[in-house]
Amino acid sequence: MTRYTPDLFAADHADLTMIRRDIHRHPETAFEEQRTSQIVAEKLASWGIEVHRGLAKTGVVGTLKGKRPGQKTIGLRADMDALHLQEKNEFDHASVHANKMHACGHDGHTTMLLGAAKHLAASPDFAGTVHFIFQPAEEGEGGARVMIEEGLFDVFNCDAVYGMHNMPGLRKGNFAICAGPMLAASDSWQVTFKGTGGHGAMPHMGTDPTQPAAQFILAVQGIVGRNVPPTQPAVLSVGHIHAGTFGSPNVIPSEVLVRGTARSYTPEVRALLERRLGEVAAGIAQACACEAEYKYFKRYPPLINSVEQTTLAVEAAALTVGRDRVDPNTPRITGAEDFAFMLEKKPGAYIMIGNGGAEEGGCHYVHSPLYDFNDEILTTGAAYWVNLVQLELGDAA
Ligand SMILES: [Zn+2]
Ligand SMILES: [Zn+2]
Repeated sequence: MTRYTPDLFAADHADLTMIRRDIHRHPETAFEEQRTSQIVAEKLASWGIEVHRGLAKTGVVGTLKGKRPGQKTIGLRADMDALHLQEKNEFDHASVHANKMHACGHDGHTTMLLGAAKHLAASPDFAGTVHFIFQPAEEGEGGARVMIEEGLFDVFNCDAVYGMHNMPGLRKGNFAICAGPMLAASDSWQVTFKGTGGHGAMPHMGTDPTQPAAQFILAVQGIVGRNVPPTQPAVLSVGHIHAGTFGSPNVIPSEVLVRGTARSYTPEVRALLERRLGEVAAGIAQACACEAEYKYFKRYPPLINSVEQTTLAVEAAALTVGRDRVDPNTPRITGAEDFAFMLEKKPGAYIMIGNGGAEEGGCHYVHSPLYDFNDEILTTGAAYWVNLVQLELGDAA
């Protein structure tokens, strides 16, 4: 089989760079990616790819059938949204919109997948079907979940799905992945401790919710230390406390609100954190003659790569840049990613591509106002996608 190296895409590099910088200059945030999805849809259509629009408002799915017969279908996914952030870069392609910026490189992800789509449309030498999935609202709003709820996999069946994200700190064009849990579940939770409150000089006349709140905040770390298996990572952090009025230190408040985040890597640990936070809050509240109102918000599930597809992703990356530049056992990341919703439904793999390492002068981390996607890796990413399609669908009959 053909090995697609980035230099085979050299003729497209200038064009891809132009597309990437144009999208960077015009960032659009969650579910408002109108201009970006228009560009994506027009490009796909111009290459003869069947285009479906409207899933999760701005989602675009391009469908390409190989010229050889085959039943297998795979989905390749890129995210299109930007962040609410004021860009501090001063280069020509810096954002023209105040407080909006492609600070996570989704402009690059979209462009790399377009590069692969163009190539595959020109020579569809594979058996089966590829769905190019361009999703909105990865940053915090769960665009992938919305696309699934609106029927993504009912309309476009996928036997496997694949995603890719750039990674500052990793040498440009290197790849990193691991089988199993790779990114954390990101949930939030809140407890409102309720008492009667009252005069600060007469605490015995009422019930004081600051007591259980204080004990609870310390007890939270006991959940990680005593309930979660020591071999499993988990994080519980308190991020917000609110009670009373600044001008009234002599008033015992009647409510104390405590909010925090929960990170975990397996559905079991995730469920454990959800259950124990509620139990600990209720138990401590009862001990203090108060009540606890508890809410747990499931945001993004853990991102779990399936073994078989991870092996294929590693092979595709090795074909692209050489095996010595692929780390198949990268450490887990405590960040989250909504591609995890797709991996809850379908087997697949999510890989990181290096955006530039310290030995190369480094680059700003994602979500920094000085971040920029590295255009040098556009053709590397496109080549990876094409290699992956060949591995998945190349030999099928
Ligand atoms: Zn991000
Ligand atoms: Zn991102």
